[in-house]
Amino acid sequence: MSVLLTRRQIIKSAGFGALALSLNTPSSRVALTSPASTTKPTPYELGPLPYAFDALAPEIEEKVLRLHYSKHHAGYVKGLNATLEKLSQARTAADYSHIKSLSRDLAFHGSGHVLHSLYWQSMTLAKSPIAGPPASLSKAMEQGFGSVENFRAQFLAAAKKVEGSGWALLAYEPLGARLVVLQIEKHQNLTIFGVVPLLVCDVWEHAYYAQYQNRRGEYVDNFYKLINWPAVARRYSAATNVICVW
Ligand code: MN
Repeated sequence: MSVLLTRRQIIKSAGFGALALSLNTPSSRVALTSPASTTKPTPYELGPLPYAFDALAPEIEEKVLRLHYSKHHAGYVKGLNATLEKLSQARTAADYSHIKSLSRDLAFHGSGHVLHSLYWQSMTLAKSPIAGPPASLSKAMEQGFGSVENFRAQFLAAAKKVEGSGWALLAYEPLGARLVVLQIEKHQNLTIFGVVPLLVCDVWEHAYYAQYQNRRGEYVDNFYKLINWPAVARRYSAATNVICVW
């Protein structure tokens, strides 16, 4: 069940009363609006792979995984940090002439980093396949899609039919308290804001082309065999505690 709280209730219930009060003082208002108050952004970091580069073979070969993680994912982290640095410089200079392209880069690289981080966690060792979602998640899938098989068919179709580069994403949508399958274009388009990502399949060509060439469907079917269902179920359980904060 989704619970909607007002901003005042959130501040009160989360114990932020003192913080809210302090932000209303004259001195803090000056500090918040002065360009000189810009601080250097804390950089994002590329997290470790949860398994060895050859752990997902033969479904995903070592060379594909190595390149994907160490070049492509690392590239998004680098791009995200470069964008944050440029935004910091823009604030310092009070020069927002490039705000449109910087905002676009922030969404692209930021979403790329988030989705790749989840992609690695979405899979488990190829040699220990797990049959399917555990009971708690199966029940939610039955409510959301009619059956686990319906979910599987929709997720696979979404992945196989992304136009160009993108992702299939299973997410929890907290406003309606339900599961949704989204078909993401690039890294950041076609989402519902506020969803909690639970499971993602990367269908950019860099995820499969060196091994599968144009056979994206075969790669997606093999990805499905690698899904770490206990981890997806744990994320689902945690996501159902997320409340709408607006
Ligand atoms: Mn990728």
